[in-house]
Amino acid sequence: MHLMKNSLLKTTITLLMLLVLNTTIFAQPPKFKVLALYSTTVESDHVDFATSAIKFYTKMAAEKNFVFDVTTDWEKLNDENLKNYQVVVWINEFPHNEAERRSFEKFMASGGAWLGFHVSGYNDKYTKWPWFVDFLGAVFYNNNWPPLPAKLIVDDNTHPATQHIPKNYTSPINEWYGWQPNPRNNKDIKVLVTLDPANYPLGKKNIITEGDIPVVWTNTKYKMLYMNMGHGDKIFDSEIQNKMFEDAILWLGTK
Ligand code: ZN
Repeated sequence: MHLMKNSLLKTTITLLMLLVLNTTIFAQPPKFKVLALYSTTVESDHVDFATSAIKFYTKMAAEKNFVFDVTTDWEKLNDENLKNYQVVVWINEFPHNEAERRSFEKFMASGGAWLGFHVSGYNDKYTKWPWFVDFLGAVFYNNNWPPLPAKLIVDDNTHPATQHIPKNYTSPINEWYGWQPNPRNNKDIKVLVTLDPANYPLGKKNIITEGDIPVVWTNTKYKMLYMNMGHGDKIFDSEIQNKMFEDAILWLGTK
């Protein structure tokens, strides 16, 4: 009887300790909050990318203790709502109107962080958003078709986003964009990853035959990263590249 009571007491104490420990772990506030915006009414390969990106970052957010909120409502890109977030991600589209654009500009000017994938960086003479051209440091010029894997060169292994990936790796199937002007010629832009010229000619219907084509870069005037990956459902198939996707969001979320 005594023995039983004793072991019951021990079990109770152990359980209580576990409970306290658990509460302490879960009481940790999230390190930072991300608002990820996407659209389901765009090119189906871009919707597929959104599905895999949301899965990837939602899992990571739970493991690394940050908030990853996703929405298809681009009106959430307003001053009031953005006060709740440190990082904004455009997964497969860009703002729809002037009000959303102005709120985003303010968010970035006041120290907010941005991660843009693939078509989020698309701009041409019809998009009429000079601030964004300056922010991205590039204008869309050409692309390859069909989407293909490509050899990439990591220009800079000292940046927090690329410090854990090798100098060269093969990136999964993607539609690659060329840029003119080339972001590398912009003094504020630091190119981190470039398309290896060994890929040329890249494509069948639309062929990239030459040129210096940056793939990942940052505008040093802001806390931002643009990554050209983002077409189709294979983007997260590379463990190497996934490490960059992880390190990128952690760097953006860190003060
Ligand atoms: Zn695309």
